[in-house]
Amino acid sequence: MRRSVRVGRVTIGGGAPVSVQSMTTTKTSDVERTVLQIKRLEEAGCEIVRVAVQDEEDAKAIRKIKEKVSIPVVADIQFDYKLAILSVKNGADKIRINPGNMSKERLRDVVSVAKEYGVPIRVGANVGSLKHRTSERWKDLAESALEEVRALEMEGFYDIVVSVKSSNVLETIRANEYIAERVDYPIHLGVTEAGVAETAVVKSSIAIGYLLLKGIGDTIRVSIAGDPVREVIVGKKILISLGLREGLEVIACPTCGRAEIDVEELAQKVESSLFHINRNLKVAVMGCVVNGIGEGKDADLGVAGLKDGAVIFVKGKIMEKVPKERVIDRLRFYIDELLKEVD
Ligand code: SF4
Repeated sequence: MRRSVRVGRVTIGGGAPVSVQSMTTTKTSDVERTVLQIKRLEEAGCEIVRVAVQDEEDAKAIRKIKEKVSIPVVADIQFDYKLAILSVKNGADKIRINPGNMSKERLRDVVSVAKEYGVPIRVGANVGSLKHRTSERWKDLAESALEEVRALEMEGFYDIVVSVKSSNVLETIRANEYIAERVDYPIHLGVTEAGVAETAVVKSSIAIGYLLLKGIGDTIRVSIAGDPVREVIVGKKILISLGLREGLEVIACPTCGRAEIDVEELAQKVESSLFHINRNLKVAVMGCVVNGIGEGKDADLGVAGLKDGAVIFVKGKIMEKVPKERVIDRLRFYIDELLKEVD
């Protein structure tokens, strides 16, 4: 089993549930906007949030941010050791640094403050910070990350999270497999600069999903350009799909000429209004009654379209006919009933 580290109230590694992370897009010193964004992320299920620290104002803002949010806050520092120290002193629950950009003495100063405050350090490599140049880039990535780990170990520091990220799925997979065999620190998984929309979702799902299925990875960050709330939603869905977390799964028929309702719109509504339910339940949104009930019988409950409304079914049995605008309300009612049965 991997070692574990404590990031505020969250444990990473050591068999703890895989946690979902994201990163704010606001200027960290803009406390009000940053707090608002963190609260949105938290509501979506984010368990650890990272903020960029570019100057002293950002580092000092961590203290004020932490007073207003309840999830652990990680300070992301590129190379300035002073900012790393200031972030820890202002309450950062973890810092991400690049020891390769610091002299031994400066790294020693950072490590000594991290030890004093009990704050873990994430190190690692992505293509941007690559040092080696062999013909196998994934190996360069992994070796660079291991060098950073060794730099911390040389200072007697072992409260480490390690990551290796590439924008390429296969490189990410190979590099993570390589480090997983060589160190027992918890691993932060992600595909970096994964892209936008579907591209980012596909790349992250393949790389993160494959590695988690192999038992590699203790915390994940899906990287998608744009609103970070989507990163959290996709991250949670990956964990639910792999059976690593309880949650609602919405299935929907692909629709065809028989569809009597707008399946896509309704499925999206069902997802967004019931996403907070952290229990294993499968909800089907089917376009027609004729085939929908049969095709959706794998689900715990569902809705199927009619010409003049919809039917709600539970475990394949029709419960009632409802007007389209009442579908969500009635689904919620039957979900509550099902959850009562389980409890
Ligand atoms: S459930 Fe009905 S609408 Fe949906 S794909 Fe099947 S037959 Fe078509």
